[in-house]
Amino acid sequence: MTTTANIYQNYIGGKWQGAGSGETFPNYNPATGELIGHFPLSGEAEANAAVEAARAAFEKWRLVPAPKRGEILYRVGELLKQHKEELARTMTQEMGKVLKETRGDVQEGIDMAYYMGGEGRRLFGRSVPVELPNKSGVAMRDPVGVVTCITPWNFPIAIPTWKMFPALVAGNTIVMKPASDTPLSALRLVEILYEAGLPEGVVNIVFGPGGTVGEALLHHPDVAVISFTGSTESGRHVAIEAAKSLKRVSLEMGGKNAVIVLDDADLSLAVEGILWSAYGTTGQRCTACSRVIAHKSIRQKLVDMLVPRIEALRLGNGLDESVDVGPVINHSQLEKIHSYTAIGQADGATLVTGGSIANNGELARGHFYRLTLFTDVRPNMRLAQEEIFGPTLSVIDVASFEEAIAVNNNTKYGLSSSGTTGAEIQFPFGGTRGTGNGHREAGIAGMDVFTEWKVVYTDYSGKLQKAQIDE
Ligand code: NAP
Repeated sequence: MTTTANIYQNYIGGKWQGAGSGETFPNYNPATGELIGHFPLSGEAEANAAVEAARAAFEKWRLVPAPKRGEILYRVGELLKQHKEELARTMTQEMGKVLKETRGDVQEGIDMAYYMGGEGRRLFGRSVPVELPNKSGVAMRDPVGVVTCITPWNFPIAIPTWKMFPALVAGNTIVMKPASDTPLSALRLVEILYEAGLPEGVVNIVFGPGGTVGEALLHHPDVAVISFTGSTESGRHVAIEAAKSLKRVSLEMGGKNAVIVLDDADLSLAVEGILWSAYGTTGQRCTACSRVIAHKSIRQKLVDMLVPRIEALRLGNGLDESVDVGPVINHSQLEKIHSYTAIGQADGATLVTGGSIANNGELARGHFYRLTLFTDVRPNMRLAQEEIFGPTLSVIDVASFEEAIAVNNNTKYGLSSSGTTGAEIQFPFGGTRGTGNGHREAGIAGMDVFTEWKVVYTDYSGKLQKAQIDE
């Protein structure tokens, strides 16, 4: 569906098209530096065209019976299953995490396709008693209109499915603006949606910078909902700009999550949980553990158990099944992560392992950082407060359970704790404080972002009955 090998295009209103300017931007493999392809460097004109296409398609799509919309999602689930390995490899090449994790990323999309496909035959409303005779009332979910999905690069398929599938089954149409670091994964997902039978114009994808394409979408009067996942800084900006035209905005943002290990803990189990949570996806998960809050009586034993396990993890190209941890996403993120090593040392924390850019042999081709552990971190240090989004873990000592809880909660974020083992899509997902703005994704709660409650009364009495007025 693309024009020339490795030159990709936007998909707007059922047509493949480049940026009007003809400009493109390159996409590289962060493990090897290899060029993956060129994508359109779109701007306001392409964003506007995509909104117009989505707006036009909305008039028909919202009238397609919800069970039929759901059936398309079932087919999407089947296709994702068939293409699981190929999609996982594309993601690993594009953003670096190891294959077993990118397979899990596709699996989240498969699960979401089946779950939201089922919603096509549910989308439950409510039938509630009314106070007047011969009258009934039903509350039902209506689609909202054109939904803009703005997504990050760390879950290149799963996060777009968490937004697109509930939005689609509810009858909305979509403009997708994926992260510029992972355009190809998002494009493959859109291709699969159309292979499953989605009518043209219902999903449109526009590539290009958040600062131009994203901005245009935030301001377009025909965009009704913005579903955003990314950094707290960008999310705050999205909320401020979208508020000017009263758009509905759902924000999923950064985290600074902790694992608490008290004096009665099973330390072997704690080590397994910490390793997976802190260094899986190279620490680039919103739910990653970046603080271990340890009771001072077991802290040294825990660190002694952790360090050899950290040092045994193998860095490398995620396509190699023997590799445990892949690269970080790009050069600027590598520099940011490295800067926190200097910040931690200047603030008086102790660097126990890692703390440098890994550039020996094959690793020199990509953006690799040695898995890093700091101890003697105090709760208010920048290491303990700021989202680093890399393989840097801080150990903070506490003297009691109460102190552990206080330290756990002493951040501007609020997402997960106690290590993360994957988010099951039938549960609501989201955060508080600097992580979220009160909405949830996934599960049935996720449907609230993409639907408008509407109440329909039917009065069979043949006369004008007035609630609260008639006796
Ligand atoms: P980011 O830099 O904020 O970018 C996220 C998305 O926003 C990208 O598509 C980006 O486009 C776009 N964007 C940037 N500036 C914009 C603007 N002015 N207007 C509209 N869109 C704009 O975040 P990231 O580095 O991709 O992702 C990492 C962050 O996401 C971390 O903070 C992580 O914790 C968070 N995250 C949160 C969750 C959650 O569920 N809570 C899940 C995953 C990740 P470009 O790529 O073109 O810049």
